[in-house]
Amino acid sequence: MTELPRIVIAGAGLAGMCAAERLRELGFDGEIVILGAEPGLPTYRPALTKQFLSGEFSERDLVIAPAHQLDVVWRFNTPVSQLDPLRRQVFLPGGELLDYDGLVIASGVEARRLPTGIHGHPRVTVLRTIADAARVRKALTNSREQVVVIGSGFIGCELAASLRAMGHQITLVGRSPRLMGELLDRELGARLTELHRRKGVQLQLGTKVAGWAPQPSAVELRLTNGRVLSASHVVVAVGSVPAVSWLRDSGADLADGVVCEPSCHVAGLDDVVAAGDVASWPNLRFGPRAHRVEHWTNAMEMGRAAAESLLSGREGALPYTPVPRFWSEQFGLQIQAAGMPALGPVRRAMDQGTPGGHTVSGFFLDNRLTGVVGFDNTPAVLRHTAELRRRVATGADRVPPVPEPSRV
Ligand SMILES: Cc1cc2nc3c(=O)[nH]c(=O)nc-3n(C[C@H](O)[C@H](O)[C@H](O)COP(=O)(O)OP(=O)(O)OC[C@H]3O[C@@H](n4cnc5c(N)ncnc54)[C@H](O)[C@@H]3O)c2cc1C
Repeated sequence: MTELPRIVIAGAGLAGMCAAERLRELGFDGEIVILGAEPGLPTYRPALTKQFLSGEFSERDLVIAPAHQLDVVWRFNTPVSQLDPLRRQVFLPGGELLDYDGLVIASGVEARRLPTGIHGHPRVTVLRTIADAARVRKALTNSREQVVVIGSGFIGCELAASLRAMGHQITLVGRSPRLMGELLDRELGARLTELHRRKGVQLQLGTKVAGWAPQPSAVELRLTNGRVLSASHVVVAVGSVPAVSWLRDSGADLADGVVCEPSCHVAGLDDVVAAGDVASWPNLRFGPRAHRVEHWTNAMEMGRAAAESLLSGREGALPYTPVPRFWSEQFGLQIQAAGMPALGPVRRAMDQGTPGGHTVSGFFLDNRLTGVVGFDNTPAVLRHTAELRRRVATGADRVPPVPEPSRV
């Protein structure tokens, strides 16, 4: 594709904004329209469970500004409802059709709801948007009653840690026996679990919510282990689902998010690329299977890579082969991950003999390092990240340096 009068970006999040930035950097001088379902500019979601809850950041502090002046049309509160790839049109509210010459799918994910939950109840929230976090903040202002967090993944754990540090009574309910069991090995998982316990988070692990009963001033939760909890507020943090309902009937493969080729081109569609949480693609650095990566840095880098691929066209595009990076912070503990730990079934301490136990776990597949997770050990994680870049070479390494977007 050499000339594109209009590129439409569906999703006004980080990936969408970074795609627009890269299109302009590469000299695309046609029209760029960014369609967003939410009311404003992209937001720094990682702070929703941390500085925003604690009141350190305001809503304004969360807004992400483009790294440089972008000549784009932002259309907020404008969810795309359908894609017709043959006519090259997206469907907007009010029956409006918008033509595109190139399309970037960057619609992210939505918070998963529990099928048995009473979502919509004023004492029950999920956590994905500023509006969700503001609801939690408001509900807990001047309240020191029991809050229940459902979900022991990183969002549930960060939420529990932040609220506990603010003095709230927190019970965390999780299906796995240890916190962040999907990412951490047994030892680091046990240490994180112990940290939460020591700080006063009540843990109900290895159990699920079996029943909900709204009361006049609380929500009662019955757990499968027989316990009954009474919560003034419940936050459901049980993962996410890709925001792809608008792509039904488009011909895109929606097996897990929107399935892409290694270059970010959406399989089976012409002049359509995808980026960020919604996109699954084979990262050839780690193997031929497609995966989604829900990390802040990936949304940035993949948005940029998808823009490059859109302008290069399918034939000329390079595979996108990053070393994904992720961080979390709980009670001051820095958890950092690099690579694709989930792909490595064999877990080994990378710094055995460290007093107090190891701080970095390596994940291996067929004796090959696929990822690392570290506790309070940034230098070691950075060293292993560099090693992952070197050792798992692809021959087509393309991760351009990324300017950090700033909050306005
Ligand atoms: C509470 C929280 C804490 C997090 N903390 C961390 C962290 O500590 N470290 C880390 O690495 N990552 C963290 N993440 C993950 C990180 O924020 C995401 O990976 C990143 O925001 C993904 O960006 P995105 O642009 O792909 O998706 P999003 O930011 O979700 O943007 C997608 C946008 O598309 C919009 N949209 C959806 N459907 C449509 C449609 N049909 N039409 C138009 N627009 C649509 C959505 O409303 C949204 O605004 C956190 C996420 C959350 C929710």
